[in-house]
Amino acid sequence: MIDLSTGVLQATDAFPSEFPIAAFQKNLITWFSKEKRDLPWRNNVPPYQVWISEIMLQQTRVDQVIPYYERFLDHFPTVALLAQANLDDVLRIWEGLGYYSRARNLHRGAADVMNLHNGEIPDSYAQLLTISGIGPYTAAAISSIVFGEAQAVVDGNVIRVLTRLFGFADVVSTSASKKWLSVAANTLLDPNAPGPFNEAMMELGALVCTPRKPKCGTCPVAKYCRAQKTETQLQFPVKKPKKKTPHLNIAVGVIQDDRGHILIQKRPVTAMLGGLWEFPGGKQEREEPIEVTCWREIVEETGLQVNVGAKIASIDHAYSHFKITLHAFYCDPGEPIKIESSLETKWVAREELVDYAFPRANRRLLEIMSGDSDGTRMD
Ligand code: SF4
Repeated sequence: MIDLSTGVLQATDAFPSEFPIAAFQKNLITWFSKEKRDLPWRNNVPPYQVWISEIMLQQTRVDQVIPYYERFLDHFPTVALLAQANLDDVLRIWEGLGYYSRARNLHRGAADVMNLHNGEIPDSYAQLLTISGIGPYTAAAISSIVFGEAQAVVDGNVIRVLTRLFGFADVVSTSASKKWLSVAANTLLDPNAPGPFNEAMMELGALVCTPRKPKCGTCPVAKYCRAQKTETQLQFPVKKPKKKTPHLNIAVGVIQDDRGHILIQKRPVTAMLGGLWEFPGGKQEREEPIEVTCWREIVEETGLQVNVGAKIASIDHAYSHFKITLHAFYCDPGEPIKIESSLETKWVAREELVDYAFPRANRRLLEIMSGDSDGTRMD
Protein backbone atom coordinates (compact mmCIF):
# COMPACT_ATOMS: atom_id res chain seq x y z
CA MET A 1 0.00 0.00 0.00
CA ILE A 2 1.27 3.47 -0.86
CA ASP A 3 2.51 5.50 2.09
CA LEU A 4 0.32 8.53 1.83
CA SER A 5 1.76 10.33 4.82
CA THR A 6 5.08 11.31 3.31
CA GLY A 7 6.28 13.45 0.46
CA VAL A 8 4.70 14.86 -2.62
CA LEU A 9 4.97 14.04 -6.30
CA GLN A 10 6.49 16.14 -9.05
CA ALA A 11 6.36 16.06 -12.83
CA THR A 12 9.76 14.32 -12.94
CA ASP A 13 8.50 11.43 -10.78
CA ALA A 14 7.12 8.21 -12.20
CA PHE A 15 3.53 7.21 -11.55
CA PRO A 16 3.64 5.41 -8.16
CA SER A 17 3.69 1.72 -9.06
CA GLU A 18 2.21 0.71 -5.69
CA PHE A 19 -1.02 2.69 -6.27
CA PRO A 20 -4.02 0.29 -6.06
CA ILE A 21 -5.49 1.06 -9.48
CA ALA A 22 -8.14 -1.68 -9.64
CA ALA A 23 -9.56 -0.86 -6.20
CA PHE A 24 -9.59 2.83 -7.04
CA GLN A 25 -11.50 2.19 -10.30
CA LYS A 26 -14.02 -0.02 -8.54
CA ASN A 27 -14.74 2.44 -5.73
CA LEU A 28 -15.03 5.36 -8.11
CA ILE A 29 -17.33 3.71 -10.66
CA THR A 30 -19.55 2.17 -7.95
CA TRP A 31 -19.96 5.62 -6.41
CA PHE A 32 -20.73 7.16 -9.80
CA SER A 33 -23.39 4.60 -10.64
CA LYS A 34 -25.22 5.55 -7.43
CA GLU A 35 -24.60 9.29 -7.21
CA LYS A 36 -24.39 10.64 -10.77
CA ARG A 37 -26.65 13.52 -11.70
CA ASP A 38 -29.34 12.96 -14.27
CA LEU A 39 -28.17 15.37 -16.98
CA PRO A 40 -29.71 15.77 -20.44
CA TRP A 41 -26.53 14.73 -22.23
CA ARG A 42 -26.13 11.50 -20.26
CA ASN A 43 -27.48 8.00 -20.91
CA ASN A 44 -26.57 7.03 -24.44
CA VAL A 45 -27.26 10.27 -26.27
CA PRO A 46 -25.83 10.55 -29.81
CA PRO A 47 -22.31 11.95 -30.35
CA TYR A 48 -23.64 15.29 -31.62
CA GLN A 49 -25.33 15.96 -28.26
CA VAL A 50 -22.23 14.92 -26.29
CA TRP A 51 -20.12 17.20 -28.48
CA ILE A 52 -22.41 20.20 -27.89
CA SER A 53 -22.51 19.55 -24.15
CA GLU A 54 -18.73 19.13 -23.82
CA ILE A 55 -18.05 22.39 -25.66
CA MET A 56 -20.63 24.27 -23.61
CA LEU A 57 -19.33 22.85 -20.33
CA GLN A 58 -15.84 24.26 -20.91
CA GLN A 59 -15.39 27.12 -18.40
CA THR A 60 -19.12 27.04 -17.61
CA ARG A 61 -21.19 25.49 -14.82
CA VAL A 62 -23.71 22.71 -15.47
CA ASP A 63 -26.73 24.72 -14.24
CA GLN A 64 -25.84 27.57 -16.62
CA VAL A 65 -25.34 25.19 -19.53
CA ILE A 66 -28.60 23.19 -19.36
CA PRO A 67 -30.98 25.89 -20.74
CA TYR A 68 -28.48 26.84 -23.47
CA TYR A 69 -27.97 23.20 -24.39
CA GLU A 70 -31.71 22.67 -24.78
CA ARG A 71 -32.21 25.89 -26.72
CA PHE A 72 -29.26 25.14 -29.02
CA LEU A 73 -30.60 21.67 -29.86
CA ASP A 74 -34.08 23.06 -30.45
CA HIS A 75 -32.62 25.38 -33.09
CA PHE A 76 -29.94 23.10 -34.48
CA PRO A 77 -31.09 19.52 -33.80
CA THR A 78 -28.60 17.88 -36.19
CA VAL A 79 -25.05 18.49 -37.29
CA ALA A 80 -26.33 19.07 -40.84
CA LEU A 81 -28.66 21.86 -39.71
CA LEU A 82 -25.89 23.44 -37.67
CA ALA A 83 -23.55 23.36 -40.65
CA GLN A 84 -26.19 25.02 -42.86
CA ALA A 85 -27.06 27.71 -40.31
CA ASN A 86 -25.91 31.28 -40.58
CA LEU A 87 -23.15 32.12 -38.06
CA ASP A 88 -25.20 35.13 -36.92
CA ASP A 89 -28.02 32.77 -35.88
CA VAL A 90 -25.60 30.46 -34.05
CA LEU A 91 -24.11 33.39 -32.14
CA ARG A 92 -27.57 34.73 -31.32
CA ILE A 93 -28.55 31.40 -29.73
CA TRP A 94 -25.21 31.27 -27.91
CA GLU A 95 -25.46 34.86 -26.68
CA GLY A 96 -24.95 35.08 -22.91
CA LEU A 97 -22.95 31.85 -22.60
CA GLY A 98 -19.66 33.67 -23.30
CA TYR A 99 -16.40 32.42 -24.83
CA TYR A 100 -17.86 32.91 -28.30
CA SER A 101 -14.97 31.22 -30.08
CA ARG A 102 -16.61 27.98 -28.90
CA ALA A 103 -19.73 28.78 -30.95
CA ARG A 104 -17.72 29.79 -34.01
CA ASN A 105 -15.64 26.62 -33.76
CA LEU A 106 -18.74 24.43 -33.35
CA HIS A 107 -20.16 25.99 -36.49
CA ARG A 108 -16.89 25.38 -38.38
CA GLY A 109 -16.68 21.89 -36.89
CA ALA A 110 -20.17 21.03 -38.16
CA ALA A 111 -19.06 22.05 -41.66
CA ASP A 112 -15.99 19.81 -41.28
CA VAL A 113 -18.21 16.86 -40.32
CA MET A 114 -20.33 17.43 -43.43
CA ASN A 115 -17.39 18.04 -45.79
CA LEU A 116 -14.72 15.68 -44.48
CA HIS A 117 -16.76 12.87 -42.90
CA ASN A 118 -19.95 12.59 -45.00
CA GLY A 119 -22.06 14.02 -42.20
CA GLU A 120 -21.05 11.35 -39.66
CA ILE A 121 -19.25 12.37 -36.50
CA PRO A 122 -16.08 10.24 -36.46
CA ASP A 123 -15.93 7.43 -33.93
CA SER A 124 -12.25 7.57 -32.96
CA TYR A 125 -10.09 9.93 -30.92
CA ALA A 126 -7.66 10.45 -33.82
CA GLN A 127 -10.39 11.25 -36.36
CA LEU A 128 -12.25 13.52 -33.95
CA LEU A 129 -9.10 15.65 -33.73
CA THR A 130 -9.52 16.49 -37.44
CA ILE A 131 -12.66 18.52 -36.64
CA SER A 132 -12.31 22.27 -36.01
CA GLY A 133 -12.70 23.12 -32.35
CA ILE A 134 -12.22 19.55 -31.12
CA GLY A 135 -9.01 19.32 -29.09
CA PRO A 136 -7.62 16.47 -26.98
CA TYR A 137 -10.10 17.01 -24.14
CA THR A 138 -13.25 16.99 -26.29
CA ALA A 139 -11.96 14.15 -28.49
CA ALA A 140 -11.26 12.05 -25.39
CA ALA A 141 -14.68 12.83 -23.93
CA ILE A 142 -16.64 11.96 -27.10
CA SER A 143 -14.56 8.91 -28.03
CA SER A 144 -14.72 7.41 -24.53
CA ILE A 145 -18.29 8.32 -23.55
CA VAL A 146 -19.96 7.55 -26.88
CA PHE A 147 -17.66 5.01 -28.53
CA GLY A 148 -15.97 3.33 -25.54
CA GLU A 149 -12.42 4.18 -26.62
CA ALA A 150 -9.84 4.12 -23.79
CA GLN A 151 -8.84 7.79 -23.71
CA ALA A 152 -8.69 9.64 -20.40
CA VAL A 153 -10.15 13.15 -20.13
CA VAL A 154 -8.16 15.76 -18.25
CA ASP A 155 -10.25 18.83 -17.44
CA GLY A 156 -10.14 21.22 -14.48
CA ASN A 157 -12.13 18.86 -12.26
CA VAL A 158 -9.92 15.89 -13.08
CA ILE A 159 -6.76 17.94 -12.50
CA ARG A 160 -8.01 18.90 -9.04
CA VAL A 161 -8.76 15.28 -8.13
CA LEU A 162 -5.44 13.98 -9.45
CA THR A 163 -3.28 16.65 -7.83
CA ARG A 164 -4.91 16.01 -4.47
CA LEU A 165 -4.79 12.25 -4.79
CA PHE A 166 -1.07 12.27 -5.46
CA GLY A 167 -0.04 15.49 -3.71
CA PHE A 168 1.19 16.74 -7.08
CA ALA A 169 3.35 19.72 -6.12
CA ASP A 170 4.31 21.31 -9.46
CA VAL A 171 2.49 24.19 -11.13
CA VAL A 172 -0.12 22.42 -13.24
CA SER A 173 0.07 24.63 -16.32
CA THR A 174 3.60 23.61 -17.39
CA SER A 175 3.90 21.16 -20.25
CA ALA A 176 5.76 18.68 -18.03
CA SER A 177 2.91 18.79 -15.49
CA LYS A 178 0.26 18.41 -18.17
CA LYS A 179 2.10 15.37 -19.48
CA TRP A 180 2.38 13.84 -16.02
CA LEU A 181 -1.33 14.41 -15.31
CA SER A 182 -2.31 12.92 -18.67
CA VAL A 183 -0.17 9.84 -17.99
CA ALA A 184 -1.69 9.54 -14.51
CA ALA A 185 -5.26 9.86 -15.84
CA ASN A 186 -4.61 7.26 -18.54
CA THR A 187 -2.93 4.93 -16.06
CA LEU A 188 -5.92 5.10 -13.73
CA LEU A 189 -8.48 4.80 -16.55
CA ASP A 190 -10.54 1.62 -16.53
CA PRO A 191 -10.13 0.23 -20.09
CA ASN A 192 -13.31 -1.81 -19.68
CA ALA A 193 -15.42 1.23 -18.81
CA PRO A 194 -13.60 4.33 -20.08
CA GLY A 195 -16.77 6.41 -20.49
CA PRO A 196 -18.17 5.81 -16.98
CA PHE A 197 -14.66 6.19 -15.51
CA ASN A 198 -14.10 9.58 -17.19
CA GLU A 199 -17.54 10.82 -16.25
CA ALA A 200 -16.98 9.60 -12.69
CA MET A 201 -13.69 11.50 -12.35
CA MET A 202 -15.32 14.70 -13.61
CA GLU A 203 -18.37 14.16 -11.41
CA LEU A 204 -16.17 13.56 -8.36
CA GLY A 205 -14.43 16.88 -8.99
CA ALA A 206 -17.74 18.68 -9.53
CA LEU A 207 -19.65 17.25 -6.56
CA VAL A 208 -17.16 16.03 -3.93
CA CYS A 209 -13.59 17.18 -4.56
CA THR A 210 -14.69 20.79 -4.94
CA PRO A 211 -12.22 23.70 -5.02
CA ARG A 212 -12.76 25.26 -1.60
CA LYS A 213 -14.65 22.73 0.53
CA PRO A 214 -13.87 19.18 -0.57
CA LYS A 215 -16.21 16.67 1.08
CA CYS A 216 -13.51 14.17 1.98
CA GLY A 217 -15.82 12.51 4.54
CA THR A 218 -18.04 11.20 1.72
CA CYS A 219 -15.35 10.75 -0.92
CA PRO A 220 -15.28 7.22 -2.39
CA VAL A 221 -11.50 7.35 -2.94
CA ALA A 222 -10.46 9.11 0.29
CA LYS A 223 -8.39 6.20 1.48
CA TYR A 224 -6.08 6.57 -1.53
CA CYS A 225 -5.73 10.34 -1.22
CA ARG A 226 -2.49 11.89 -0.09
CA ALA A 227 -3.89 15.42 0.37
CA GLN A 228 -6.68 14.12 2.59
CA LYS A 229 -4.20 12.18 4.69
CA THR A 230 -1.96 15.18 5.20
CA GLU A 231 -4.84 17.71 5.38
CA THR A 232 -3.35 19.68 2.52
CA GLN A 233 -6.35 19.53 0.16
CA LEU A 234 -6.51 23.28 -0.41
CA GLN A 235 -2.86 23.45 -1.45
CA PHE A 236 -3.74 21.60 -4.67
CA PRO A 237 -3.76 22.14 -7.57
CA VAL A 238 -0.72 24.43 -7.52
CA LYS A 239 -1.27 27.37 -9.86
CA LYS A 240 0.87 30.26 -11.05
CA PRO A 241 0.22 33.40 -9.00
CA LYS A 242 -2.44 35.51 -10.72
CA LYS A 243 -1.47 38.83 -12.27
CA LYS A 244 -3.55 41.86 -11.38
CA THR A 245 -6.52 42.00 -13.73
CA PRO A 246 -6.26 45.03 -16.03
CA HIS A 247 -9.21 47.40 -16.28
CA LEU A 248 -10.22 49.30 -19.43
CA ASN A 249 -12.64 52.16 -19.90
CA ILE A 250 -14.57 51.80 -23.14
CA ALA A 251 -16.81 54.49 -24.64
CA VAL A 252 -19.55 53.62 -27.13
CA GLY A 253 -22.13 55.70 -28.96
CA VAL A 254 -25.77 54.83 -29.55
CA ILE A 255 -26.04 56.74 -32.82
CA GLN A 256 -29.60 57.28 -33.95
CA ASP A 257 -30.67 58.67 -37.34
CA ASP A 258 -33.85 60.60 -38.29
CA ARG A 259 -35.85 57.38 -38.67
CA GLY A 260 -34.86 56.30 -35.15
CA HIS A 261 -32.60 53.59 -36.57
CA ILE A 262 -29.44 52.80 -34.58
CA LEU A 263 -25.99 52.10 -36.01
CA ILE A 264 -24.36 48.79 -35.11
CA GLN A 265 -21.22 47.15 -36.44
CA LYS A 266 -20.00 43.60 -36.58
CA ARG A 267 -16.75 42.60 -34.90
CA PRO A 268 -14.23 40.84 -37.17
CA VAL A 269 -14.62 37.06 -36.91
CA THR A 270 -10.96 36.67 -35.92
CA ALA A 271 -11.21 39.15 -33.01
CA MET A 272 -12.31 38.47 -29.45
CA LEU A 273 -16.15 38.26 -29.48
CA GLY A 274 -15.76 37.87 -33.24
CA GLY A 275 -18.96 37.89 -35.29
CA LEU A 276 -20.98 39.63 -32.59
CA TRP A 277 -22.56 43.04 -33.16
CA GLU A 278 -21.80 46.09 -31.05
CA PHE A 279 -22.19 49.85 -30.82
CA PRO A 280 -19.26 51.78 -32.32
CA GLY A 281 -16.64 52.95 -29.84
CA GLY A 282 -13.39 51.91 -28.23
CA LYS A 283 -10.74 52.26 -25.54
CA GLN A 284 -10.06 55.43 -23.59
CA GLU A 285 -6.55 56.80 -23.96
CA ARG A 286 -4.56 58.06 -20.99
CA GLU A 287 -6.05 61.25 -19.50
CA GLU A 288 -8.62 61.50 -22.29
CA PRO A 289 -12.11 62.67 -21.22
CA ILE A 290 -14.49 59.78 -21.86
CA GLU A 291 -16.80 61.84 -24.12
CA VAL A 292 -13.76 62.61 -26.29
CA THR A 293 -12.97 58.89 -26.45
CA CYS A 294 -16.50 58.28 -27.68
CA TRP A 295 -16.23 60.94 -30.40
CA ARG A 296 -12.67 59.99 -31.48
CA GLU A 297 -13.36 56.26 -31.69
CA ILE A 298 -16.55 56.74 -33.69
CA VAL A 299 -14.82 59.12 -36.13
CA GLU A 300 -11.97 56.61 -36.54
CA GLU A 301 -14.26 53.61 -36.97
CA THR A 302 -17.10 55.03 -39.04
CA GLY A 303 -16.05 58.43 -40.40
CA LEU A 304 -19.17 59.98 -38.86
CA GLN A 305 -18.60 63.41 -37.26
CA VAL A 306 -20.98 62.60 -34.42
CA ASN A 307 -22.19 64.95 -31.70
CA VAL A 308 -21.85 63.19 -28.37
CA GLY A 309 -24.94 63.75 -26.22
CA ALA A 310 -26.30 62.54 -22.91
CA LYS A 311 -24.74 59.67 -21.05
CA ILE A 312 -26.92 56.55 -20.88
CA ALA A 313 -25.06 54.41 -18.35
CA SER A 314 -21.74 52.98 -17.20
CA ILE A 315 -21.71 49.19 -17.16
CA ASP A 316 -19.06 47.07 -15.45
CA HIS A 317 -18.22 43.72 -16.97
CA ALA A 318 -15.50 41.15 -16.31
CA TYR A 319 -13.92 38.94 -18.96
CA SER A 320 -11.52 36.13 -18.08
CA HIS A 321 -8.34 38.25 -18.33
CA PHE A 322 -9.51 41.84 -17.94
CA LYS A 323 -12.38 44.01 -16.76
CA ILE A 324 -14.13 46.83 -18.54
CA THR A 325 -16.41 49.71 -17.76
CA LEU A 326 -18.54 50.50 -20.79
CA HIS A 327 -19.61 54.16 -20.86
CA ALA A 328 -22.48 54.66 -23.30
CA PHE A 329 -23.69 57.96 -24.81
CA TYR A 330 -26.51 58.92 -27.09
CA CYS A 331 -25.07 60.49 -30.23
CA ASP A 332 -26.51 62.17 -33.26
CA PRO A 333 -24.75 61.18 -36.47
CA GLY A 334 -23.70 64.69 -37.59
CA GLU A 335 -23.31 65.60 -41.27
CA PRO A 336 -22.85 64.07 -43.76
CA ILE A 337 -24.24 60.65 -42.79
CA LYS A 338 -21.75 58.67 -44.81
CA ILE A 339 -20.17 55.61 -43.24
CA GLU A 340 -16.56 54.77 -44.03
CA SER A 341 -15.75 51.60 -42.17
CA SER A 342 -13.80 48.42 -42.73
CA LEU A 343 -16.44 46.61 -40.65
CA GLU A 344 -19.92 45.47 -41.64
CA THR A 345 -22.36 48.13 -40.38
CA LYS A 346 -26.16 48.35 -40.24
CA TRP A 347 -28.81 50.87 -39.30
CA VAL A 348 -31.36 48.83 -37.35
CA ALA A 349 -34.77 49.75 -35.92
CA ARG A 350 -34.60 49.73 -32.14
CA GLU A 351 -37.15 46.91 -31.78
CA GLU A 352 -35.13 44.74 -34.21
CA LEU A 353 -31.90 44.92 -32.20
CA VAL A 354 -33.10 41.88 -30.30
CA ASP A 355 -32.48 39.82 -33.45
CA TYR A 356 -28.71 40.43 -33.34
CA ALA A 357 -26.11 38.78 -31.12
CA PHE A 358 -24.38 41.28 -28.83
CA PRO A 359 -21.64 40.92 -26.18
CA ARG A 360 -23.00 40.90 -22.62
CA ALA A 361 -22.23 44.57 -21.76
CA ASN A 362 -23.87 45.81 -24.99
CA ARG A 363 -26.92 43.63 -24.28
CA ARG A 364 -27.20 45.10 -20.79
CA LEU A 365 -27.04 48.56 -22.34
CA LEU A 366 -29.99 47.63 -24.58
CA GLU A 367 -31.91 46.42 -21.53
CA ILE A 368 -31.24 49.74 -19.79
CA MET A 369 -32.39 51.65 -22.86
CA SER A 370 -35.64 49.69 -22.85
CA GLY A 371 -36.05 50.22 -19.07
CA ASP A 372 -35.63 46.51 -18.49
CA SER A 373 -32.62 46.41 -16.15
CA ASP A 374 -32.05 47.48 -12.59
CA GLY A 375 -28.68 45.93 -11.82
CA THR A 376 -26.42 48.48 -13.43
CA ARG A 377 -24.64 51.61 -12.31
CA MET A 378 -26.38 54.63 -13.88
CA ASP A 379 -24.52 57.93 -13.94
FE1 SF4 B 1 -10.64 15.19 -3.05
FE2 SF4 B 1 -10.89 14.81 -0.43
FE3 SF4 B 1 -11.52 12.87 -2.14
FE4 SF4 B 1 -9.00 13.58 -1.77
S1 SF4 B 1 -10.36 12.68 -0.27
S2 SF4 B 1 -9.99 13.18 -3.72
S3 SF4 B 1 -9.18 15.78 -1.46
S4 SF4 B 1 -12.55 14.85 -1.91
